[in-house]
Amino acid sequence: MVELIHKEGLVTLDVQYIDGTKIESVANRYTFVWGRAVDSFDSRLKSKVDAVLKQAEEVIASEEEQAGTTVGMDPEDFRKRVDNIKEKMDKLSSDMQKEIRKVEKESIPKKAEYEHHREILQGRGSYSKTDHDATFMRMKEDYMGNGQLKPGYNVQISTENQYITNYGIYRKPGDTTTLIDYLKTFKNRYRRQSQEIVADSGYGSEENYSYMLENEMAPYVKYNYFHMDIRKERKRPSDAHTLPTPYYNGTDDYFVCPMGQHMTYIGSRHRKSETGYISENRMYMARDCSRCPIKGVCTKAKGNRLLQINAHLLKQKQIVRDLLTSERGLEHRSNRPIEPEAVFGQIKYNRGFKRFNLKSLPKVSVEFGLVALAHNLRKYARSKATTADGNPHNPTPERKCIPSLSFLKMYAA
Ligand code: SF4
Repeated sequence: MVELIHKEGLVTLDVQYIDGTKIESVANRYTFVWGRAVDSFDSRLKSKVDAVLKQAEEVIASEEEQAGTTVGMDPEDFRKRVDNIKEKMDKLSSDMQKEIRKVEKESIPKKAEYEHHREILQGRGSYSKTDHDATFMRMKEDYMGNGQLKPGYNVQISTENQYITNYGIYRKPGDTTTLIDYLKTFKNRYRRQSQEIVADSGYGSEENYSYMLENEMAPYVKYNYFHMDIRKERKRPSDAHTLPTPYYNGTDDYFVCPMGQHMTYIGSRHRKSETGYISENRMYMARDCSRCPIKGVCTKAKGNRLLQINAHLLKQKQIVRDLLTSERGLEHRSNRPIEPEAVFGQIKYNRGFKRFNLKSLPKVSVEFGLVALAHNLRKYARSKATTADGNPHNPTPERKCIPSLSFLKMYAA
């Protein structure tokens, strides 16, 4: 369908307006398993079982005048330890024998059950017992964003001229970590990549910017505090009642604080994201802030002021700001709310598709594929319809993509 509308010039596939929505699963809303509860019950059970087994092992070891042995805490290890103890049960008191039988009949199966939950969770915070692929997510119920946790899927779509050009179903509620994988699915589907990506600040992260820039895609993707940065840039010097930002000397790698003191490099902190991406924060510290008259407005630190700078991200943010404030960026910013969001409005509120009818990720994927196909067919038919005087009933606006790759030079610099 997309190839057909591409041939007809209704979409260029050069730009993707991306957004996500949560769609409820058909699963029962009250059959949840929470990852954190599993971890906490499991760790309590582990220490309880280990204490009972250790006590029994020590009794047996003292009877046999050997040193007590302590082995692992996996379900298999526990089973082996119980089997070893059972061979010498006569050396234990009746109460202790009862405890060992309880561990064998209740605690070890429970431990295996927790392991089974973890296998299904695969790093997620929750899942539904009646649809293992569905995760509990907060669904917006009204215009104020009030909602409740329900089992569902995170549906990502790309649109162009309000046609759905790609979609993906994810089990995690956050949009940020889905973007790279999602862009790869576009490339696999069409054997090409779009030159422009437009999305909201939920997708703005160092890892995502790196991927887009390295693959020659222009990221028209805001980051948190984008508007604050723009306001700061526009501020006239006479308006400045806040302190100036420390000046950076790139040749000798130090900052100069508002009072003229050098802030020198003291080390770096590395942070690993949940997807394994490592970002570096360089730290610079002022030498002595104790007698500074403006310390109260400069820093909340008890000692000297510490600056943490992610230089790579700052450079990316500058590129993104330049793109978003260019003529093309302003056009994309005004189109974004009427692209994927209007399509979700059509699907969810006008056509009433608010809950899947099938269970499991592969089936839900097919189901949403049919919904997307129906949406595109309906829109295509409407674009072909004519009014009584022969004019197009709903002409598709012509939006030419004029990608400029000049930002890549700045990124490479
Ligand atoms: S508090 Fe420290 S870093 Fe801030 S202006 Fe004063 S000397 Fe400079």
